[in-house]
Amino acid sequence: MVVGAGAIGSPLVRGLLWWPHLERIWVADNDRVERSNLPRQPWYRVADIGREKSRALAEAVGDDRVRPITVAVDHDFTWPPVSLIFDATDNWPARAAIQREAWRQQIPWIFASAVRWEGQVALLRPGGPCLECLFGAHPTEGLRCFEAGVVSTVTLAVAGQALAVAEAWESRGHQWEDRLYLLDGREGRVWWVRLPPKECPHGS
Ligand SMILES: [Zn+2]
Repeated sequence: MVVGAGAIGSPLVRGLLWWPHLERIWVADNDRVERSNLPRQPWYRVADIGREKSRALAEAVGDDRVRPITVAVDHDFTWPPVSLIFDATDNWPARAAIQREAWRQQIPWIFASAVRWEGQVALLRPGGPCLECLFGAHPTEGLRCFEAGVVSTVTLAVAGQALAVAEAWESRGHQWEDRLYLLDGREGRVWWVRLPPKECPHGS
């Protein structure tokens, strides 16, 4: 399931189409396509302006495994059973709801964020470090990308890295789940830091 059909979520969905074993790809987004989305989200057309993003995206990719959901993902959201959740949102309350559900279903989720020239990606598993371990109890509601701006160099790189991390987890070929990836579009750098190895004390 991909939460968010914007500049990160849409390329993620397109990448997931090439995972042949996926029966469903849920795409949840409560927003409608706006003209200001088009420069960084070119898969939407002028004719899509005003339409529900998740529906417009499902139609654009033309694969009936992609199922749009057009309600907000918050604590009232009714989740379908899924095997992996991608966070392609730009806000902390939605991330907290994603994490809560991932722990409830005992599945991993992929944190993906991009603001201005910087991106972050990590696969977080039940029992391992959680958002709170990484960013503290109440992460500052920093500038969201529609306020701060973000460059597509970073959103596309974040989507690509999230897919790479997910593929590595799927194939069990790499143990990348203990890393936080950091991307810097100005420096053209991707690097990673090790997540805290301790068990999460916050109930993940
Ligand atoms: Zn924790």
